Amino acid sequence: MTPAQKIDLRSDTVTLPDAAMKKAMVEAPLGDDVFGDDPTVKLLEKNAAELVEKDLAVFMPSGTMGNLAAVLAHTSRGDAVILDAESHIFYYEAGGSSVVGGVQFWPVADLHCSGGPEKVLQAVRPPDQHFAPARLLCLENSHNRQGGTVLRPDELQSYYQAAQETRLHVHLDGARIFNASIALDRPVTEFTRCCDSVMFCLSKGLGAPIGSILAGPAPFIESARRYRKLLGGGMRQAGILAAAGFASLQNIPLLKEDHRRALTLAQGLANLNHLKVDPFPPPTNIILLSLKEGKADTEDFLQHLESHGIQAIPFGKDLIRMVIHKDINDRDINYVLNTVSAYLKTFS
Ligand SMILES: *Cc1c(COP(=O)(O)O)cnc(C)c1O
Repeated sequence: MTPAQKIDLRSDTVTLPDAAMKKAMVEAPLGDDVFGDDPTVKLLEKNAAELVEKDLAVFMPSGTMGNLAAVLAHTSRGDAVILDAESHIFYYEAGGSSVVGGVQFWPVADLHCSGGPEKVLQAVRPPDQHFAPARLLCLENSHNRQGGTVLRPDELQSYYQAAQETRLHVHLDGARIFNASIALDRPVTEFTRCCDSVMFCLSKGLGAPIGSILAGPAPFIESARRYRKLLGGGMRQAGILAAAGFASLQNIPLLKEDHRRALTLAQGLANLNHLKVDPFPPPTNIILLSLKEGKADTEDFLQHLESHGIQAIPFGKDLIRMVIHKDINDRDINYVLNTVSAYLKTFS
């Protein structure tokens, strides 16, 4: 039987605010945040900065704007930014840092794989009039396009050390940093101490409708706040959103359930003939899967799921992404497994 509501595995951004969150939004004290008058925004920024042990934080309308403001605040026009070729900043953010910041991206293949810190050292070239000087290293944790893989704190520390040796600042795209922290059962500060600035999303697995946090040293955040204004992200009675963001921080421990369900689903899928799940087991809440050679094609598979009320997205050639989040329950996981299993049986 097709479920009454769609089972939406396209992303953890599809999570809806719950009743407690909506109540917090309605009741939040408000003011004009561009004048610095919104107490709810201030409270969120203060708590968020403390949570990741940075001087200050600024509330951003999106993760994309948080990353862009961070790149702008860390660099000058003509600087080079070293980052993974599959990173969100390079792959999915419309080239914003190049368009607005005039920086040169220096994408490195497999930067998050073994030997990454050495790759950083190799990517930084000596001072020379021919070269854009490298100023910033961007890392991503968990790594979306790698299927939610996690860099451990000791690994992050090695990158940070390589960056410091070569006088690079480090910005961490921690859109899902709490997934990384929960997956390894390590405090988030062990991760955030290995970078100069960090962005994290409230609007993904944590369930806020809108909003991200950028945190870092005081002068950096002052600069990023000005860039937020320049980008059109200065928001007025933003406390109505910050209240949702504040409530979403309560959901951090619940990410463990998402990881448990992702594991259950991935194990079930991997047990079916014809499907490959990689990485396996899924490190966090993201599952990447592909159909094995010669079987049903990806488009047909996705269409079949859609017609049975299940949404997932194509993620590059022959790859499918499924993301588990707080609005997916155990029954949904079972339903997805049964649907996929029935579909694949028609090919054996
Ligand atoms: C979603 C995401 C972002 C951007 O967040 P938006 O709020 O969608 O702009 C940045 N980095 C990573 C790794 C993400 O997954």
